[in-house]
Amino acid sequence: MRKLNILFKSQRYSTYITHFTQSRFYNSNNASYDGKYSMKICEIFTSIQGESTLQGLPCVFVRLAGCNLNCSYCDTQYAREGGTDMSIGEILTKVENLSFSFICITGGEPLIQTDTLLLAQECVIRGYVVSVETNGTIDASQLHEDVIRIIDIKCPGSGEHGKTHPENIVNLRPADEFKFVLNNRTDFEYAREFVKKHRLTDACTVLLSPAWNILDPDVVAEWILHEMPEARLNLQLHKIIWPYESKGR
Ligand code: SF4
Repeated sequence: MRKLNILFKSQRYSTYITHFTQSRFYNSNNASYDGKYSMKICEIFTSIQGESTLQGLPCVFVRLAGCNLNCSYCDTQYAREGGTDMSIGEILTKVENLSFSFICITGGEPLIQTDTLLLAQECVIRGYVVSVETNGTIDASQLHEDVIRIIDIKCPGSGEHGKTHPENIVNLRPADEFKFVLNNRTDFEYAREFVKKHRLTDACTVLLSPAWNILDPDVVAEWILHEMPEARLNLQLHKIIWPYESKGR
């Protein structure tokens, strides 16, 4: 039954992607946002989505600058501060010029900029599939209902656990995905208890991701097979494809 549930979710996303890939983009005037709603942008680039159930899809990444945490394994330190000012109009125009149908808004922590809600909404109404990757510490309930929320739950090994915003583990949506990055066995047991306590797999997808170069994937695979078969193994595909590149991947 659990296996069927996971398969069902995968098929649903495939249909979802096909629908939006074939749709025509909403013809809106980006210029109406020129000079308004300035956001701090770290980088905008195309790549292969390396994580979540959307793994493997070509994607435009909009990486926002700034973060409210400092995780032990952070692989985007360069995004934690700084950034270039761009209006929402400029961001939308750049994204449209890249001609992909899937946008991932990430960081840093994208929700520390309140205009991220508007940016995500504008992307949705233009017909894009939109995911937002958040560290889970800021209320994500106001994101447009069609946004796929990828919510990190920080484990003890990150040094930042226990800060999940309570709104992010209630009123779950079927497209939500919760991601636990694991450094060790303690993190796995923390994740397993958290999932059980909040019944996350009843409502959405749970991803277990071994921290890159810290925990071997086969170890996590065995834990899933024997102790948590309702979870999915989440490897960072972009790091397997481009192991020597960080920015823009
Ligand atoms: S939340 Fe993400 S960007 Fe922020 S410190 Fe942690 S890993 Fe790095």
